[in-house]
Amino acid sequence: MAWNAPPSATVLRQFSCVPHLLVCLPENALPDWSDDAILQAALSCVQFSGVNVLENVLPNQTLWLIPPAHSAHLRDFFGERHMVWQTPPVEQKPVLAEKMWFRQPEMAAPQHVIVVGAGIAGAATAHALAQRGVRVTVVDAAARVANAASGNRQGLLYAKISPHNTPQTELLLSGYGYARRLLANVLPERETWGASGVLHINHDKAETARNALLAQDDFHAHLYRGVTAAQASELAGVPVAQGGLFWAQGCWLNPLAWVEQLLSHQYIDLKLNCHLISAQHDGENWQMRTSQGAFSGSHIVFCTGASSRHAPIVGELPFQIIRGQTSVVRETAFSGSLKTALSGASYIAPAWGGWHTFGATFLPNNDDDTWRNSDELANQNELANLNPQLHQSFAFSGSLKGHAALRCDAHDHLPVVGALGNSTAMRQVYAKLALDKNYRLNAPCPHYPNAFVNTAHGSRGLATAPICGAYVAAMICGAPLPLSRRLQNALNPNRLIIRQIVRSSS
Ligand SMILES: Cc1cc2nc3c(=O)[nH]c(=O)nc-3n(C[C@H](O)[C@H](O)[C@H](O)COP(=O)(O)OP(=O)(O)OC[C@H]3O[C@@H](n4cnc5c(N)ncnc54)[C@H](O)[C@@H]3O)c2cc1C
Repeated sequence: MAWNAPPSATVLRQFSCVPHLLVCLPENALPDWSDDAILQAALSCVQFSGVNVLENVLPNQTLWLIPPAHSAHLRDFFGERHMVWQTPPVEQKPVLAEKMWFRQPEMAAPQHVIVVGAGIAGAATAHALAQRGVRVTVVDAAARVANAASGNRQGLLYAKISPHNTPQTELLLSGYGYARRLLANVLPERETWGASGVLHINHDKAETARNALLAQDDFHAHLYRGVTAAQASELAGVPVAQGGLFWAQGCWLNPLAWVEQLLSHQYIDLKLNCHLISAQHDGENWQMRTSQGAFSGSHIVFCTGASSRHAPIVGELPFQIIRGQTSVVRETAFSGSLKTALSGASYIAPAWGGWHTFGATFLPNNDDDTWRNSDELANQNELANLNPQLHQSFAFSGSLKGHAALRCDAHDHLPVVGALGNSTAMRQVYAKLALDKNYRLNAPCPHYPNAFVNTAHGSRGLATAPICGAYVAAMICGAPLPLSRRLQNALNPNRLIIRQIVRSSS
């Protein structure tokens, strides 16, 4: 069911038997659903860059709020599904021919999906599949979930965006809204997260200029707004020397609690201490050898984070690794008044259970994931720059240590998400691209059967991994896709292989 402009809340609620309700938004204006508290509250993270996919707002229905930039491209999301318009339809633009390696492969119906990795990407992917009634086994090599990059005691959920309409900005804004709603939905009691906002501080010239431009986006004032130093201090509850951008719905969260909750679903079976050693498709199913014996599944999804480099199949892709370490420090009488998270060159979260998390270090091409005193000192120095008063109030001698882990990144700093091409076969089929990157090739892309990846979330996985999990689940189930064609292509894992082929000529 589709509308070319927002209907009233009453009209919307009349269509309670329709699984997808699609509302095209006017330029930079939110619907007025003030007579319906649930619908109005659901608008708090709606944005005008990507599509807004609102699940769990209306019972058993998905509400799609489509900004004008996407309303003439509904096939990106809904394919050739028939739409019933309640208003005159929005005229659709023709779908442009896609590069062969960006086309979605044919897919079998899912019987049983194996998700490898129980960080936020694996948990969100498994949860999205289970919500669609698909049986999932999640395997992780570690003894507990959220052990690697998702293992920080507190992380921040907000969107560090540029003022330009880049794929990163679209993904971050739509991912942030999606993740924020998912968090509130699965952990409604808020014992393990705090929704008091994130202050993104003007910590250098570039950031000051960027925040000033973003602050001009009045239409996103419900998401982020510019604040002076005095306003920032008022919001934070401690003195803040610079102004910045305040993300009112931004929050800190304990990723472990979120991951555990996402995985606690009747359709999800979790196997820990279960290292995937090899995976082969036997023509019908994936046969997997693990440290706990053999498994099989109709589909496989690699959510293997920085260990993707060493994992079967997905290890064929080129990933970059960035070491990072957070620190924790005991709350003081002064630091207890910190209400919002502060983020600049580093971040600090309000106290949770008597401790603050702060950091994090950022060391590209360093694959040491052990805790280091040098990183602890670096975090303390950065905290002194971020907020000297907080820094002075702490006695850095607590018994709790921070968490060291590896971020997984791609060359273009976008996640790697979608159906996996067979890199060896692709190198043969598309070899001519090494001679001329514009060579016209019409051979279908040789994909691995029913194999997917959701990884390389870099420093922003709490915002980006959940919507990417929903995207992979929708692909597997043949459901409408929550990402625009631009993002589907920008995140497609095959881009990394094609880039390698093109660059092999030089
Ligand atoms: C120090 C630090 C601070 C950060 N702060 C923030 C923040 O404030 N906000 C934010 O949004 N993001 C932050 N990030 C980034 C974010 O944490 C990551 O993007 C996100 O956690 C990645 O999740 P993931 O599920 O892709 O990977 P991971 O959490 O690393 O999970 C991958 C899992 O796969 C398993 N695995 C790998 N290979 C195999 C195999 N062969 N068999 C079985 N299991 C396997 C691993 O054991 C692991 O559990 C931070 C990252 C770091 C390191």
